Amino acid sequence: MTADRYRIQRNDYKNFNSQRVFVRREGEPRYQGEFVLYWMQIHRRLHSNFALEYAIGHANQLGKPLLIVEALRCGYPWASDRVHHFIMQGMAEHATVAEKRGLNYYAFLENPDHSGSGMLETLARRACLIVSDEFPAYIIPAHNKALTEKLVNNRASDVPFITIDANGVIPLQATEKAPYAAYNFRNILQKLFPEAWEHPPLDDPLERLINRSHVSFPKDFTQRYPRADAHLRDEAAMRKFMAALPIDHSVTALPALPGTRKAALDRLENFTENILARYSDERNDPDAAAASGLSPYLHFGKISSFEVTRAAFARQPAKWSVDRLAYNKGSKGFFSAGAGLTAVDDFLDEALTWRETGYHFCHHTPKYDQFSSLPNWALDTLKQHAKDKREHLYSLEQLRAGETHDEIWNAAQCQLVETGIIHNYLRMLWGKKILEWTQSPEQALEYLIELNNLYSIDGRNPNSYSGIFWILGRFDRPWQERPIFGKIRYMSSPLARKKIAMTKYLERFGRTAVEQSLFD
Ligand SMILES: Cc1cc2nc3c(=O)[nH]c(=O)nc-3n(C[C@H](O)[C@H](O)[C@H](O)COP(=O)(O)OP(=O)(O)OC[C@H]3O[C@@H](n4cnc5c(N)ncnc54)[C@H](O)[C@@H]3O)c2cc1C
Repeated sequence: MTADRYRIQRNDYKNFNSQRVFVRREGEPRYQGEFVLYWMQIHRRLHSNFALEYAIGHANQLGKPLLIVEALRCGYPWASDRVHHFIMQGMAEHATVAEKRGLNYYAFLENPDHSGSGMLETLARRACLIVSDEFPAYIIPAHNKALTEKLVNNRASDVPFITIDANGVIPLQATEKAPYAAYNFRNILQKLFPEAWEHPPLDDPLERLINRSHVSFPKDFTQRYPRADAHLRDEAAMRKFMAALPIDHSVTALPALPGTRKAALDRLENFTENILARYSDERNDPDAAAASGLSPYLHFGKISSFEVTRAAFARQPAKWSVDRLAYNKGSKGFFSAGAGLTAVDDFLDEALTWRETGYHFCHHTPKYDQFSSLPNWALDTLKQHAKDKREHLYSLEQLRAGETHDEIWNAAQCQLVETGIIHNYLRMLWGKKILEWTQSPEQALEYLIELNNLYSIDGRNPNSYSGIFWILGRFDRPWQERPIFGKIRYMSSPLARKKIAMTKYLERFGRTAVEQSLFD
């Protein structure tokens, strides 16, 4: 069968979702190619994924099979057992699904560093077009830029290359500039949500894939880029493989947090059924465990924000429907007005407003991780107070080890090192203290990025930078002036102790608890 000729262009989609398409190398598909390649980088899921759906659309149009390549480097910034294990568990799950459903899925794990070089260019020579993930932070923009340059400048292949934004409900290209505050983005979200909601991703796009023929690989390819299957076989094989890698083994894997889609869906179900109703009242209490715990799964793309939103809507009272959304110029209450649940509104205000504020900010701000990207009022006030006397000063090593005078801070750091997360309220306090206890705001930023991105399983995400830079004033407003902080919002441990329930938390993560667990 010969496919009709066509060009890849952004308005391929005639609807709202055309804004999800980033044509990095335009042109006609290579009709003589053997397959459409989907290079899965960060939207690591086989469901509810616009990028996968887009690749399948072209495979069907061209009458070709689809090849899904999921790879993991070993020299990525903050590489650790924690991140590797999480991603490998997801790859193992994909390998099982692929076998059951007869998909062309190629999992590749680098060892040693750079051993994956040239893999994509080699596949590009056989592909009709390449589709990958759009993501506005960490190493993904550089990966996408590098492949584009290789394709365009080095003429590795004349294949088109498209990245697709499956990050959130509002496409990154639907905003014109970086939001300066959550209320600013909330206003945009309210305007665009109804249309975005009418154009969700397909739940199971693979169902639509027509050409199911097998893609084979020559021996020289599989020798140079061996399939990862044997290392993904079971827990022991994964551990053995990781142990030989040049990655940080002190940042340990998290057995309690499996990196699978199944774990993401279970967590979402448990949260919406058993916890969401008390989210508004108890989210800030570390003892209550009333947050969703979804951030690692959202970060690695194991679940989509459409799925999360749909599950939250399902908890609305029976008489509620999206027709009851209340446009209110950036105030809260958009999802709960008209007899909806405040808890659903509060949760979606985090999962949609706050989360996507950060994604859109990074998309429009290439220097999103630089000190200079703070708003002017914050830069000015921090500069004015840069030389203020600090009562306590800690080195990165002392902070890393949780060796400060502050019991709550040490407990939060212990939770981070041990479990890969910090309770949200304490994460804010944790960050504010780093600003107070370091020599300069620039050093505070450096330490915050290092500690957050090394230990947090949800780190290296646009929200990492929202949270870290919020500590220094981004998305916030000036408050009453005080030493060191200037007009930046201040938080204190004694006040936190009064405000929130954390007895159990301190028993679990406090210094005494840690010492006991070391010696009992
Ligand atoms: C210093 C600091 C560092 C942070 N680093 C990260 C990080 O590395 N990765 C990360 O995902 N979040 C980060 N945050 C934001 C927030 O702490 C986490 O998103 C949240 O605690 C994750 O837990 P949860 O999934 O149970 O959240 P829930 O309360 O259940 O919220 C649901 C989802 O909404 C989003 N969300 C919630 N709070 C925020 C917020 N304040 N800003 C942006 N999105 C939010 C997340 O995607 C989250 O999974 C940081 C905050 C601070 C103050």
